Amino acid sequence: MERILNYINGRLTEPASGKFIHSIDPSTGQNYAEVPDSGSSDVHLAAEAAGSALTLWSTLPAMSRCRIMEKIADLIDENLEALAKAESTDNGKPLSLARVMDIPRASENFRFFATAGVHLASEAHQTGKDAINYTHKSPVGVVGCISPWNLPLYLFTWKIAPALAAGCTVVAKPSELTPMTAFLLSKLCMQAGLPPGVLNIVHGTGASSGQAIVEHPQIKAISFTGGTTTGKKIAATAAPLFKKLSLELGGKNPNIIFADCDFEQAVATSVRSAFTNQGEICLCGSRILVARSIYQKFLDAFITRVQELKVGDPLEEGTNLGALVSKAHLEKVLGYVNLAKQEGGTVVSGGHAVQLTGRCAGGYFMEPTVITGLSNSCRTNQEEIFGPVVTIMPFDSEEEAIQYANDSTYGLAATIWTENLKKAHRVAAEVKCGIIWVNCWLLRDLRTPFGGMNQSGVGREGGWEALRFFTEQKNICIRL
Ligand code: NAD
Repeated sequence: MERILNYINGRLTEPASGKFIHSIDPSTGQNYAEVPDSGSSDVHLAAEAAGSALTLWSTLPAMSRCRIMEKIADLIDENLEALAKAESTDNGKPLSLARVMDIPRASENFRFFATAGVHLASEAHQTGKDAINYTHKSPVGVVGCISPWNLPLYLFTWKIAPALAAGCTVVAKPSELTPMTAFLLSKLCMQAGLPPGVLNIVHGTGASSGQAIVEHPQIKAISFTGGTTTGKKIAATAAPLFKKLSLELGGKNPNIIFADCDFEQAVATSVRSAFTNQGEICLCGSRILVARSIYQKFLDAFITRVQELKVGDPLEEGTNLGALVSKAHLEKVLGYVNLAKQEGGTVVSGGHAVQLTGRCAGGYFMEPTVITGLSNSCRTNQEEIFGPVVTIMPFDSEEEAIQYANDSTYGLAATIWTENLKKAHRVAAEVKCGIIWVNCWLLRDLRTPFGGMNQSGVGREGGWEALRFFTEQKNICIRL
């Protein structure tokens, strides 16, 4: 069994407690790695190391930081297959998906922010003939980055890369459910020559090591992606300490399908947006709203495609849905299917756990599930399920579609399907979500602001927004 170690001050170390927790391969239900059960003393060592490395890293020319980060990106690319396999084993996702999505995006995150950091510039404002003001930017200092289990290395690097590019040093924690690729990343950072202490990775549970990162006085900013309940707790801890906070939280994303859409595209992409990564992407469309005139036709075509999806061994080619991340999560998602039935819904496809044979007999698999007949206000349509479950509901007018879309405590992402450009602009402006895709889904440009409204989060990641978050700005006014 592989033993994962913390990465503190450039070295791989055991946790101070000497205790480890198990990491389970969700496709088999078997323990396959030991994860450090770190606590506040490990976080303290990491924060001290990050503090000691800060002057060196923040004063290094941006181009030198860029070269080291690009080297890390190169090493991620060179180790694509091993990293993809680790991601699939840790999370349950299809290996084929990790190969084309998770790992390439991790190296792209490093490359994108490495080069962006070189272009970070200051503004100057001429104040008539009296003065000139300029904005002095400096790294925030030591920052904490905490990420979830659904896109492990993808989201871990999405936080770490802009922090490093801005000149900050980092104490980071991946999810205890999916720590393996973060551990492999620590080895690649050592190989790339990242100076000791610049990035420190502390493994463990949210309650012990995560909470210790948020509380640590030397850590000046927290960039967090995860559930809304955890986000609330982090905000409550960080607010009295006046830490900068970026919170990327849950979603309950609407897909609005108008009658004048490109029907085939709308169906195919809605299936993809519902079930990619077993529906465990914060951006997955989980409430599909369809114009009544095409409702039955859409539902039939959607179900036909869903029933072609293969639930299977994540390591096998041709698998569309792998395992859910844990037994507890599978039970939670199945619990929502029961709730939907109690709320008057009809399960028109799927709804059950899948029992595979052979290697995956003990795994946590579930059918892609489609539910109809529910009101938008019921719990099934209001709470984040974060699994392979979607509901489909008809609407009668543009106003009603917008009202359903916005009748949510969340506001992360939405898709709009119409061939009418004016309608697309109109509806996009009205829907209260941070990210709107028109006639597409998950088409990403890393320069765009990324994040949600309401209970989907606070702040934006991506592009200059991320670099700004990890930077303190000072206005300097010089009288002429
Ligand atoms: P989670 O909130 O349970 O855990 C996320 C991370 O926070 C983990 O590393 C966990 O150990 C840590 N954590 C838990 N309690 C903590 C505490 N008190 N202090 C500090 N850290 C703590 O979320 P999850 O179950 O890992 O991920 C699923 C959730 O993440 C879903 O709600 C999903 O929508 C959301 N998500 C959001 C985005 C986005 O960009 N908005 C992206 C991916 C996932």
